[in-house]
Amino acid sequence: MMSDLQELYQEVILDHNRRPRNFRALDDARKAEGYNPLCGDRLTVYLRVDDGVIKEATFQGSGCAISKASASLMTESVKGKTVAEAEALFERFHRTVTASPDAPVEDLGKLSVLAGVRQFPVRVKCATLAWYALRAAAEARGDVVSTE
Ligand code: ZN
Repeated sequence: MMSDLQELYQEVILDHNRRPRNFRALDDARKAEGYNPLCGDRLTVYLRVDDGVIKEATFQGSGCAISKASASLMTESVKGKTVAEAEALFERFHRTVTASPDAPVEDLGKLSVLAGVRQFPVRVKCATLAWYALRAAAEARGDVVSTE
């Protein structure tokens, strides 16, 4: 059962890596770049925010399967949410991927597929990179955020 679930999670991650959703730049949007020197992941997150609501979230860049799948899942998850709701979701996601491996996995919808990275602490930075960039973009900071 557990391995079936892990296989399913693996499939979702590979699918989002192969065919990342919302993988494009946005003109006239808030954006921020995230860089994870440990792995070489480099992503730019674009946000269109209207009245505090995220109307569109996209990303571009290159990185490992985890970082791309996480960015892809993130853009799907935050669309339609307020910036504050997206920030709250990031906090829950961060808690989930940094929890001890035997802690129960909080239900975060599709984002839960990334809970497995908690077993590989070095991958946590890959999984959270897009979220840090999202936060910086929401705050409309143009600088590069680094996981270091
Ligand atoms: Zn990575």
